[in-house]
Amino acid sequence: MDLKTNIALSIVVPVYNEEQIIPELVRRMTEAARSITDSYEVIFVNDGSRDTSLQKLKEACAGNPRLHYISFSRNFGHQIAITAGMDYASGEAIVTIDGDLQDPPELIIDMYKEYQAGFKVVYAKRSKRKGETWFKLFTAKMFYRLMARLVSFEIPLDVGDFRLISRDVLEYLKEMKEYDKYIRGQIAWLGFKSTYVMFERDERKYGKTNYPFKKMLRLAYNGITAFSDSPLKLATNLGFIVCIISFLIGVFALYGYFFEKNTFPGWASIIVSVTFLGGVQLLSIGIIGEYISRIINNVRNRPLYVIDQATKDINTDK
Ligand code: UDP
Ligand code: MG
Repeated sequence: MDLKTNIALSIVVPVYNEEQIIPELVRRMTEAARSITDSYEVIFVNDGSRDTSLQKLKEACAGNPRLHYISFSRNFGHQIAITAGMDYASGEAIVTIDGDLQDPPELIIDMYKEYQAGFKVVYAKRSKRKGETWFKLFTAKMFYRLMARLVSFEIPLDVGDFRLISRDVLEYLKEMKEYDKYIRGQIAWLGFKSTYVMFERDERKYGKTNYPFKKMLRLAYNGITAFSDSPLKLATNLGFIVCIISFLIGVFALYGYFFEKNTFPGWASIIVSVTFLGGVQLLSIGIIGEYISRIINNVRNRPLYVIDQATKDINTDK
């Protein structure tokens, strides 16, 4: 794709069935970008929309050479859409923002100021989320807190995929080529100096959310399995506990069988074998899980370390 070089700011916008809002989206996005720099680009990623979104995007892009679109052959999902947009972004600072105007484009101006102040990751943090069900708010809140407890690095709370990252963060992000993506976790994993700006998340004006509970759950699973082995370890620990309990039951049953003579015939052997086998099975699954977790870690092929800064004479070019 022929994108201009020396771009200061790239804005990546995933779009899935947003036909009604596209004219307003394009207007507000270009206004906000222009007030930051003339050297901007906006990359819309049409994620297999079923409505006239693509048509609307084409019209918008035809009228302004700084606007681009990428259109998928089918719906690949929000995380993949922003990944594709970032792959083609050539800016020094890269913003990802939802295409339904729930994330206000004007906030990018504040985010860019933080970037100029030296922050390589600037999150837009939601102080309020209007028009969401209590169920979504509650599950999201619980999930972020669970995630924060499970992983060994700092996870920012109450942020989504509305953020600005610098070029070097993006280059590292590109090396994390995982299939099941959870980008906000990847960026937190990378570290780097980050800050946030607060905003109140508006409700959706048109259409409905494309993140039904099923997709949210999948994103949550991706987040946890990509960054934590705790569920696997749970099986191992559970197996140990069951083995110990079954051993105690065994002692109890054998004692009853040999000394008290008060058990039903067959009870002791059945109860011992059932509980013991259950324990052994859980333990074995857990051990297999331990190995799988190591395989995953290697197959993921992440960079081994991340350089934020270095003295001038070290060449950090890759
Ligand atoms: N989106 C996408 N592909 C999808 C689902 C959503 O590109 O499969 C886009 C959508 O157009 C919007 C953003 O991702 O710009 C966030 O989606 P949505 O508003 O449905 O999520 P919510 O704000 O309800 O969490
Ligand atoms: Mg939305």
